Amino acid sequence: MRLILLGPPGAGKGTQAERIVEKYNIPHISTGDIFRAALREGTEMGLKAKGYMDKGQLVPDEIVVGVVTERLKKPDCQKGFLLDGFPRNVHQAEALDKVTEKMDIKLDGVINVDVPDEELVERLTGRRMCKGCGASFHVKFKPPKVRNVCDSCGGELYQRDDDTVETAKDRLEVYHSQTSPLIAHYDKQGILLNINGNQDMENVFSEVTKELDKIAE
Ligand SMILES: [Zn+2]
Repeated sequence: MRLILLGPPGAGKGTQAERIVEKYNIPHISTGDIFRAALREGTEMGLKAKGYMDKGQLVPDEIVVGVVTERLKKPDCQKGFLLDGFPRNVHQAEALDKVTEKMDIKLDGVINVDVPDEELVERLTGRRMCKGCGASFHVKFKPPKVRNVCDSCGGELYQRDDDTVETAKDRLEVYHSQTSPLIAHYDKQGILLNINGNQDMENVFSEVTKELDKIAE
């Protein structure tokens, strides 16, 4: 099965990705991972990307697409793949359309994990980290036994700078402005799978598998 996973920060995409690749036995292609690999292996596209990164510049879409394409051509992708973190915008999506067409393959589904912004802000801002051991808690979903005190080491808990309401709202705004057109793009192609991400992880996953099993038939 050839899949794309979309979802805002705080939607629990990581957990879903892990479970999807395990159940359907396909490689998890996360942009961060494959970039690190391409740089390590010194592939053609990896070296091009490095040129931009060394200069502190943003890697152009063409090169990002090139790195993904190199990865999709590896033998383990013949049984399918789950793309995570790519495409990020319509330009990349259109480039991916051309790549898949050339490879004579088709995307089977684009999983869109949908969660209301208010809920995402609550999830993103409730995180608390331990100053002592780095353990992570959540005021609502994983509260420490004693307020602001780490369960494991007794250290003081704090909120990271990028977990504030302002930062969370900024991140969501960036996400929506890039992703809304992307969702429309795949909706037009008839392969968009909208999943209600505003429920516990187990139910989200069972909704995902229900949709994917329909495709697999
Ligand atoms: Zn601790």
